[in-house]
Amino acid sequence: MELPRFIVDQNVGKLARWLRLLGYDAVFFTGEDDTRMVKQALAENRILLTRDTAIQRRRVVTSGSLKVMTFETEDAEVQMGQLLAQFQLVGLSHPFPRCLEDNSLLRPIDKLAIEKRVPRYTFESQEEFMECPMCGRVYWRGTHWQALKRRLAGFRNQ
Ligand SMILES: [Zn+2]
Repeated sequence: MELPRFIVDQNVGKLARWLRLLGYDAVFFTGEDDTRMVKQALAENRILLTRDTAIQRRRVVTSGSLKVMTFETEDAEVQMGQLLAQFQLVGLSHPFPRCLEDNSLLRPIDKLAIEKRVPRYTFESQEEFMECPMCGRVYWRGTHWQALKRRLAGFRNQ
């Protein structure tokens, strides 16, 4: 099964991190030119997420070539709830597959290799760590991750 992939407009930018947290490939579009965003979405087969309703009237969208979801609300949590409902997205069992900052696929890293890079308590209380090959951030399952999982579960029940 192929997972849906997304391109996230700046006006709904928070969705990129939420989607990555769930394990989805979500790129953040930082340019000003909507046409370039639409082209990238088509070229990479991504669903476009935006608050810009004008995009819905473009021919590539009305013809069905490009999937777009527009949001009326500015509230990121409501947007996420709508997104989860629309595409029936579910969290993946694999934790931290993507860097929340740059969307790169994380890779497991040996605990001893990151001893100096995480807080002492974290090092002692966690066994599994992942590293982003792009920016070098280290991720681990912990209380922060558990809290985020609960919030995401909450979105699904709204
Ligand atoms: Zn990264």
